[in-house]
Amino acid sequence: MERGIAWVTGKGVTVDSIIGGIVEGQLRRIYLDHAATTPTHPEVVKAMLPYFTDAFGNPSSIYSYGQEAKGAVEKARTRVAELIGARSEEIVFTSGGTEADNSALKGVAHANEHKGNHIITTSIEHHAVMEACKFLERRGFRITYLPVDKYGLVDPDDVKRVITDKTILISVMHASNEVGTIEALEGIGQIAREAGVYFHSDAVQAVGHIPVNVDKLKVDLLSISGHKFYGPKGVGALYTRKGTKLVSLMHGGEQEKRRRAGTENVPGIVGLGKAVELAGQEMGKEANRLADLRDRLIRGLMERIDHIRLNGHPEKRLPNNVNVSIDFVEGESMLLNLDLEGICGSTGSACSSASLEPSHVLLALGLSPEQAHGSLRFTLGRENTEADTERVLEVLPGIVAKLRAMSPLFKTRE
Ligand code: PLP
Repeated sequence: MERGIAWVTGKGVTVDSIIGGIVEGQLRRIYLDHAATTPTHPEVVKAMLPYFTDAFGNPSSIYSYGQEAKGAVEKARTRVAELIGARSEEIVFTSGGTEADNSALKGVAHANEHKGNHIITTSIEHHAVMEACKFLERRGFRITYLPVDKYGLVDPDDVKRVITDKTILISVMHASNEVGTIEALEGIGQIAREAGVYFHSDAVQAVGHIPVNVDKLKVDLLSISGHKFYGPKGVGALYTRKGTKLVSLMHGGEQEKRRRAGTENVPGIVGLGKAVELAGQEMGKEANRLADLRDRLIRGLMERIDHIRLNGHPEKRLPNNVNVSIDFVEGESMLLNLDLEGICGSTGSACSSASLEPSHVLLALGLSPEQAHGSLRFTLGRENTEADTERVLEVLPGIVAKLRAMSPLFKTRE
């Protein structure tokens, strides 16, 4: 039998059959990498399609085609705003989470440099925040990268301690894409507010999965990405609290009230709006179902594999995230062997999985480079069932035993 990605791109295989997790007559493919991306929900695809064809207008055009597209964009904006407790005029559509993060960091930095040049962030942020910070550092900004505890939690007191009169922005992610730890944003938001410092959160892994409310979290800016919750890729949003001063990254037309130039990605924005609507309806029930599957998978792995540890917080974690380190084996080797069984997981984050550098997040949690290299992340999603997690528990212990039998490190461990 043919193996690998080829099964699902073969003739006669539909999106629905893939989302169902079963490709008829062929080996079952189990997708457990929803933090990397999610399959676009069929309802989302359906909602988007007319905006490629019949309703193809440019929202800036004043005739009916344009106004129809504009109406769809505004409807999506209202939906996004409602999901996070914001006002629709505080939402700007972007090309995804990366652009939202870059716009927040560089936008606030450049608009407020007359007030100060200090930015506080953490050592576990996604590359979209990390690299934007490094860019700003090269341009004279001073960045403090706060440490985290062994679970990946930032201590709000640490934030308070490092604020100076030059601090203009604090950026702390809502939930870790790697280990799933959910940060105590409310406390940090309160500290930021008392100090008169803007507070941004990369909530790309949280929105659509857990309740997010910008007032409760006391954030001034918040990044969202469509493809992490069954929306399309290449579309996202930045929430910016009214009154927040930031400059635009993009210069050109007057779209998005001059906050983000460029003709709107209308089908993408409509898809994001639909994904938000579905998340609003399904999130609560789905989070409970996934948390139950997550906990069974974690328990099963701990029972069946020795020299294993859970990464991330045992309770304050995303309902769909399982991240473990397994000693004396390489994450990449486990992934390849799992792929042969039709199981897709990840080691480190998707963006860095092509690199052999150990994950900066796992190192920040205090893991050794060897432990970080032996990490596996499974992120569950709406099409997964108990049969999928059972299958992982059935095959992974054998893969680990096989790899350890070949590992000189395992043989000489005592
Ligand atoms: N921030 C986090 C926490 C992420 O997990 C990701 C994607 O992996 C991004 C930002 C980037 O989002 P996008 O892929 O939409 O650019």
